[in-house]
Amino acid sequence: MEQCACVERELDKVLQKFLTYGQHCEQSLEELLHYVGQLRAELANAALQGTPLSATLSLVMSQCCRKIKDTVQKLASDHKDIHSSVSRVGKAIDRNFDSEICGVVSDAVWDSREKQQQILQLAIVEHLYQQGMLSVAEELCQESTLNVDLDFKQPFLELNRILEALHEQDLGPALEWAVSHRQRLLELNSSLEFKLHRLHFIRLLTGGPEKQLEALSYARHFQPFARLHQREIQVMMGSLVYLRLGLEKSPYCHLLDSSHWAEICETFTRDACSLLGLSVESPLSVSFASGCVALPVLMNIKAVIEQRQCTGVWSHKDELPIEIELGMKCWYHSVFACPILRQQTSDSNPPIKLICGHVISRDALNKLINGGKLKCPYCPMEQNPADGKRIIF
Ligand SMILES: [Zn+2]
Repeated sequence: MEQCACVERELDKVLQKFLTYGQHCEQSLEELLHYVGQLRAELANAALQGTPLSATLSLVMSQCCRKIKDTVQKLASDHKDIHSSVSRVGKAIDRNFDSEICGVVSDAVWDSREKQQQILQLAIVEHLYQQGMLSVAEELCQESTLNVDLDFKQPFLELNRILEALHEQDLGPALEWAVSHRQRLLELNSSLEFKLHRLHFIRLLTGGPEKQLEALSYARHFQPFARLHQREIQVMMGSLVYLRLGLEKSPYCHLLDSSHWAEICETFTRDACSLLGLSVESPLSVSFASGCVALPVLMNIKAVIEQRQCTGVWSHKDELPIEIELGMKCWYHSVFACPILRQQTSDSNPPIKLICGHVISRDALNKLINGGKLKCPYCPMEQNPADGKRIIF
């Protein structure tokens, strides 16, 4: 962050200089034009009277030419001065940022170039779909000859259609979706459907007393949510009292807050994504954000590896040589480290639960087998190694 601020300061200086130069340039040219205009009028006047060019006028003219030349020269040299400031920004970028980051990770950890490219293209396409930039995604698919099947696109298309409607304050498609997925939304503890009905109800309230009956009859939609959202429903019913006066002048004016619309878009994206098994943020943005956090550490490791000439340290494809803290936001699932080998378990070395209930990694289990028998390293229970069960966190 400090580096960004440093470059930004240099950039501000340049922008300030440009601004001052621009103003100064405009002013000098304006003055010059005015001066030339005056001279032209005088000349025209003289020509009209048929008098030959007086010595004074010709002196004034040559003075004018010199003035024009001087001004242009001055402007050009001022412009040149800005160049040095611009190049200072370039130097600040070079000084504060490392330009060579490709070599941070050794080539050995990547798949083949073609596969890499394909994965990257797919990640970009998914990101574009997720951001609602459907036409750009389609274009990229065509240009990169990436074949994305309809099953992959469908959920994004549907989500975007509903979100677009929500942005235009059209609750219809979202309500339809929420009603048809009611059971699964409830399993997720989602209050999406309730919030949608609430917004619809509030919209009816803004229609004034003539909408009172309609609002009352719509209130029956709250019935399935009576237990979970009792307090909110009471508030809405209470607001009916102020219908004649106008909600905006009542203690219930908070119901009209426009933040409810932003909130509903957020709730819909979060709950629909989790119901459809999609991440709220695209894998590309998550990778990018994680990369930004991890990059300084990785660059330090690279320097250390080079200094100590221990290139073999980083040869695993699915594991970094050290742990990098990415913050709570990036905790997606539990991890298990084998208490015997002190290594994080993986697909190839999964955690195994022994019949005594203790859990160790499969590699540790294999190492502990003695004469076809296994003795638990925690409780001395002897058991058959084949009885261990793989567990998934
Ligand atoms: Zn045990």
